[in-house]
Amino acid sequence: MNNHGVVNKKANLYVLSLSLLGCSLFVLFGNITFSYSSSDWLLILSLAIVNVLSKHFIILIPPKGNSLVMDSTIYLASLFIFGLDMTLMILLLSILIVSLYQVKTAWWKHLFNFSTFSLMILSAYFTFTFTGGEIGLIRFEYIHLYLLAMLTYMLLNIFTIGVFFWLISNDPLFSIIKVFLAESIYSYLSTLVLSLILGIMLVHQPVIGIMLFAAVILMLSLAFKHHFELYEEASKKANRDDLTGLYNHGYFKEVLVDYVNTKDNHRFSLAMIDIDDFKKYNDFYGHLQGDNLLQCFGSLLKEGCRPFNYTYARYGGEEFVILMPETTGKQAYQFLNGLRKKINDTYFHGVEILPQGCLSFSGGIVSHEGSVYNSSELLEKADQAMYYAKAQGKNGVHLYNEGDVIQKNLDEDKEIELLEQQVRIFLSKDVYTYKHSKRVYKYAINFAKKLQLNEHESKILILGALIHDIGKLEIPRDIINKKGKLEPHEWEMMKKHVKWGKEIISTNKDLNGLIPLVELHHERYDGKGYPHGLKGDEIPKLARILCIIDSFDAMTSERPYQATKTFEEAIEELQKCSGQQFDARYVPAFIEMMEESVYSEPNISK
Ligand code: GH3
Ligand code: MG
Ligand code: MG
Repeated sequence: MNNHGVVNKKANLYVLSLSLLGCSLFVLFGNITFSYSSSDWLLILSLAIVNVLSKHFIILIPPKGNSLVMDSTIYLASLFIFGLDMTLMILLLSILIVSLYQVKTAWWKHLFNFSTFSLMILSAYFTFTFTGGEIGLIRFEYIHLYLLAMLTYMLLNIFTIGVFFWLISNDPLFSIIKVFLAESIYSYLSTLVLSLILGIMLVHQPVIGIMLFAAVILMLSLAFKHHFELYEEASKKANRDDLTGLYNHGYFKEVLVDYVNTKDNHRFSLAMIDIDDFKKYNDFYGHLQGDNLLQCFGSLLKEGCRPFNYTYARYGGEEFVILMPETTGKQAYQFLNGLRKKINDTYFHGVEILPQGCLSFSGGIVSHEGSVYNSSELLEKADQAMYYAKAQGKNGVHLYNEGDVIQKNLDEDKEIELLEQQVRIFLSKDVYTYKHSKRVYKYAINFAKKLQLNEHESKILILGALIHDIGKLEIPRDIINKKGKLEPHEWEMMKKHVKWGKEIISTNKDLNGLIPLVELHHERYDGKGYPHGLKGDEIPKLARILCIIDSFDAMTSERPYQATKTFEEAIEELQKCSGQQFDARYVPAFIEMMEESVYSEPNISK
């Protein structure tokens, strides 16, 4: 703050001194007199008016919205033909007219403008006359003197403005001046050529000359404006995706590379999104309807991102990306997960045929918090995280972490692979049971660690967690996917999944150790569970533990178009039922584990 104040003070002081200098030299050298002939007054006035008009009919030059203003052309032409006094008078009148109708602009800005132009005109005049130039006619043999005068005029302009920018920014003066010089040299060269043409006209046909000059400014301005609009439209189109109107792959990459390069110490997150099972939708309803879905998805993405300063784009076919500045991984996770749920709950024609029963996507996030990834690595990691989310049963969001690889190794364990294959059958029938099983399995890995179970018990709990609902494969689709309450007879059928699960498991001798978990995970500590109504320690320990995990996930797992318990509500419910439904010895440890994980690793939370 302080530093800023000092910088502003310096800039103010600079503006003040330059204004004083310009005004003093104006008074000292400009022989201000009002005793011009009426034809001279006519010239002065019409040049001042054309000058003011030229500020409105500026000539826009692509690509950055640079522009050519004609005032310098008028000053230089007038200087070469009429000399210093009349030119300064044109300047004075022009600034007076402008300050009369631009009353909202601070007076010191007009003064500063006036002073800088006075200095530039004076410097050009003295350069021209000291090097032997004569006022009055445009002569070919003076061409190098005109050039010299123009250069002094231009350098003074660049230097005075450059110093101002140097004072208000942290950039080095040299590089500021270099940029200004590169940007203005061509426009000043054309200014000089135009000023010589105007000069010739002022000598021979002043009235027609000024009128023609005004007409040229007007026409050029309109033509360039049109040209500039076309240029803008074309560059906009080049950056946009035709179908969704969002930014396209190429533009997004440019933005990302720029962002990573210029703000490498900043914190931001990058998300990669891929619509789930889009090919199925396309195959079922055709490409045109698929396009409509993509458009709708684009609008939902736009709507979700609108309140934030995010940059989002269509990255490929049904893939989208979001760059989230100043966003931590956790914040990005919460945003994307919220967007996912909103999209789940937005109905679009025909989405009920999709395995998730709704429009959904899988999202991967990588957060850049002091890490040194380049843009390609970031995209690669977001992509990996997205595929991880897909592997968890889709319709989910995953935050990239190096630990994902370790998880993979565990997944490669032979027995887990075998069970995983069986659970995967749910993907085509009941994707919720698939995802539920995967989550319960993950909770079990962490809970076994938390309870410090021995190796054998850990293994049984983890494998049992993965396969515990396998009996649901026997339940008819219309019951298992039914939205709303089950009828009593349907409920009876549902309860049988523990028995059927036991039967399925029993066919493989190697899995016999898992039978108690599959059969008894719905027994309650108070004896009110099923299938046998076992009570307390009659229920095997691991089945009692699995019951807690299973119930917690059932409470919190979301389904589209349906409300579920929040994390906090589910924890409250566990506490309430501790000692009745659940073994009170394990509830506190589970709650502690969940609370730790909510704050450290959002992926575990859902
Ligand atoms: P997953 O959940 O694993 O992402 O499955 P998916 O079906 O969404 O992914 P997959 O990569 O198998 O299929 C993507 C499909 O998107 C294939 C392609 O025909 C379709 N697609 C890509 N671009 C467009 C497009 O512009 N319009 C339409 N209608 N379809 C497109
Ligand atoms: Mg894809
Ligand atoms: Mg897809």
